[in-house]
Amino acid sequence: MAATTYTFKGLLTENGWIANAVVDLDASGNVISISESEISRGEFVNGYAFPGFQNAHSHAFQYAMAGLAELHVDTAIQDDFWSWRNAMYGLALTLSPNQLEVVATMLYSEMARHGYTAVAEFHYLHHDKNGKPYANLAEMGERLVAAAQKAGIRITLVPQFYQQGGFGQAPVDRQKRFISNTIDDYYKLLESSKAAAKNYTHANTGIGIHSLRAVKPEDVIIICNSLNNSILHIHVSEQLKEIEDCIAYHGKRSVKWLLDNCNVDKNYHLVHATHLDDSEVTGIAKSGASVVLCPSTEGNLGDGLFRFEEYKNQGGNWSIGTDSHVGLNPLEELRLLDYGQRLISHKRTTFVTPGQGESAFNALKMAWQSGRRAMNALDAEFFAVGQPFDAAVVKATSPLIATASLRNLCNTVVYSADVSDMAGTIVAGKWICKDGQPIHSEMAVNDFVTVIKDLGTRL
Ligand SMILES: [Zn+2]
Repeated sequence: MAATTYTFKGLLTENGWIANAVVDLDASGNVISISESEISRGEFVNGYAFPGFQNAHSHAFQYAMAGLAELHVDTAIQDDFWSWRNAMYGLALTLSPNQLEVVATMLYSEMARHGYTAVAEFHYLHHDKNGKPYANLAEMGERLVAAAQKAGIRITLVPQFYQQGGFGQAPVDRQKRFISNTIDDYYKLLESSKAAAKNYTHANTGIGIHSLRAVKPEDVIIICNSLNNSILHIHVSEQLKEIEDCIAYHGKRSVKWLLDNCNVDKNYHLVHATHLDDSEVTGIAKSGASVVLCPSTEGNLGDGLFRFEEYKNQGGNWSIGTDSHVGLNPLEELRLLDYGQRLISHKRTTFVTPGQGESAFNALKMAWQSGRRAMNALDAEFFAVGQPFDAAVVKATSPLIATASLRNLCNTVVYSADVSDMAGTIVAGKWICKDGQPIHSEMAVNDFVTVIKDLGTRL
């Protein structure tokens, strides 16, 4: 007996669209059955259901500075990633737990509005403003979980091990809120984070190493050897300077070092992976690991373009993330990724090999499958029986969508739609955003405006 039933004008499966899809869900929002039917049952939704988008990389607090750091007024500074990072550290030093929760609630509500149903929070803002651990080591992580609960989105809290300021260097004062001095300190933080995740049905955790520059090599190896099938998220090779520093310290590029020293496998989520040599491209693809690409942030920060063509041709896995949240639209992330590649390849087949199918479906499938794994979730296919029903629904009435055949529907949505075409977002069978209104939106906006005024960061 179904607890909830929806009928969608269409629903996307791995084998294509089901028209007039009747979806029966149990009391937990898990799929009992999906079938095509002439007769609607339950709530009729005049829209097309896509599997919910997976946001595999987020630093929630950075949302408070999205779109800033663009006033290039100092002639002595050539703005780049590192000057942006300075501005970001300034923000990181100011936020209270309550302010973080408010910023994250606004952010996660906006993610829900754009069709994201899950977020992996790459979290390193652990301690108080003086760098002292809170009584609850996972105080800040707990606030992120609370924010996700208010917004209704799933969260994978990935507390980061952040130990040092650079390869072989002590942390600087501005990094004092991030630091775990030892592995034991980190594992205590991880245990507290797991306890915090228990506060919310749709929360879980993963293990995080901020980057090779932020953790001693011997400790990276210990953490990687004790994963016990947990997922691991790590920043790799975002900036050329990072590679140069790694070569100077280790005599090897960063991904090469990781591949040589750790058993990199499907549980590894390598964030950015922008700068790779041939052997690193092959090494990641062969390992079964995923790269997490964040095209809007990587573009904004001037990181570079990932070697997508070579990686794709070797069967590499990838997901998307919004990182600094300068963009929040998953469709735009896919487009930016695609168009960056088209501009350098002069071809239009980024996501396919010729004859292999349609661009958008392949992109959605790849990003979703690796995205689910980045959340420590094991569902193997869209809307599988027994799995929670998480969906991003686009309006069937939007002009381009209303006039597209099912054959052209994925491409129409991925290449031409925006948030105004979203009918809503569903997590575990419940709307978390409907008709453009996230469940927590009014309160989230009011609180957010107050906090941003208090912070004064957007003046
Ligand atoms: Zn990041």
